[in-house]
Amino acid sequence: MSAPLTILGTGMAGLGLARQLRTLDSERPITLITADSGDDYSKPLLSTGFAKRQPPERLAQRSALEVADQLGAVVRTHTRVTAIDPESRTLWLDHEALPYSELVIATGAVPQPPMTIPDDLTAKVFTINDLDDYRAFYYALTRLNRPARVAIVGSGLVGCEFSNDLAGGGHRVSVIAPEATPLARLLPESLGQALADAMHEGGIELLMGRTLASLEDVGAGVGLALSDGRTLEADLVLVATGLKPRVQLAAEANIETSAAGIHTDRYLRTSVPGIHALGDVACVDGVNAMHVQPLQACAKALAATLAGNPTRVRYGPWPVLVKTPLCPVVALPPARTPARWRIEGESPDLTAMAEDEDGRLIGFALTGACVRRKVELARAAPALLV
Ligand code: FAD
Repeated sequence: MSAPLTILGTGMAGLGLARQLRTLDSERPITLITADSGDDYSKPLLSTGFAKRQPPERLAQRSALEVADQLGAVVRTHTRVTAIDPESRTLWLDHEALPYSELVIATGAVPQPPMTIPDDLTAKVFTINDLDDYRAFYYALTRLNRPARVAIVGSGLVGCEFSNDLAGGGHRVSVIAPEATPLARLLPESLGQALADAMHEGGIELLMGRTLASLEDVGAGVGLALSDGRTLEADLVLVATGLKPRVQLAAEANIETSAAGIHTDRYLRTSVPGIHALGDVACVDGVNAMHVQPLQACAKALAATLAGNPTRVRYGPWPVLVKTPLCPVVALPPARTPARWRIEGESPDLTAMAEDEDGRLIGFALTGACVRRKVELARAAPALLV
């Protein structure tokens, strides 16, 4: 039997590709390999589950078995690939060798905590980047059997979404971050301040302008020491200080990578023949977007390519919708530093337009009621990858 097309990873990128490919080719043998349970779930819903008290089982749309059935594919779960040998087109799972015909790497991104989490704190300090992580945090919360004191480290998209969601679920949330205002990479300061005000009014304590210095076990909870000397105690800590593309396997196989991900061209080809990459792990023609729309576009283009119709991917001007119901946010961050931000409206309903030297719109950010301008401004903004 010929070796299968092998997809490494069953996140939205890996599964999305397999689904697209099946619409074009119902025969080709496909194997999917994942280090986790292989459940089919939507990652963006992880940061809206706590307000609705949704158990992890409710977020899993299909089990790996159902996915395998639906796709007519082999799905190997709880299986970690330890090495790639591009010469012999073989994957290694410790001592087991698995031949592939073509390989697609969709290994996602890995959380980047600011410090090593001490072993005695792993039951109280968490990151949430997949359904297994959500499950662990959900049951730690549930075991407390009362509203929890949750400290969230980081005020980027993931930190802001979880803080809104946990506050919505009745928990007491504190956010610690070095920036002056939340979502600093997406929002100019006045819009960040509008979000901060709304979060404050929603009962979230914002400890901005400081970093986490240390964590210690204090019996029932965790003691956090901050860079300004302040201390606080929480039942649980959620670390949301960013993600980095999981490139190690690829780098060890001499595939071209950098901190931005596995480098690919517009056909999602890596530097090594027979190996493609997509999703959070991939830096496509210099862009690593780490959002759903770009990975869906990649899945569609790559499926066509693998089915014999070479197709370049292109990204539209796709704004990011941040799930902060206390103050809705939409942002299309400019690809380069704008000459100026033009800001209109009154807090919390603000529009910020990033303009170049010639007054052309190169990005935008919207808060409050102004998020309804998303479609109008996206139409005028440049595509991410033309
Ligand atoms: P992942 O889902 O991380 O999948 C990686 C896969 O690789 C997993 O199956 C893993 O087990 C496997 N794997 C890794 N290493 C190995 C190995 N060595 N061996 C075997 N398997 C391996 N984007 C939006 O556009 N809108 C949103 O609203 C939004 N909300 C989000 C909310 C949260 C809380 C988070 C964390 C992200 C959010 N995102 C959002 C981003 C979006 O969810 C991601 O871009 C997307 O899910 C990434 O999918 P992926 O398949 O590339 O990676």
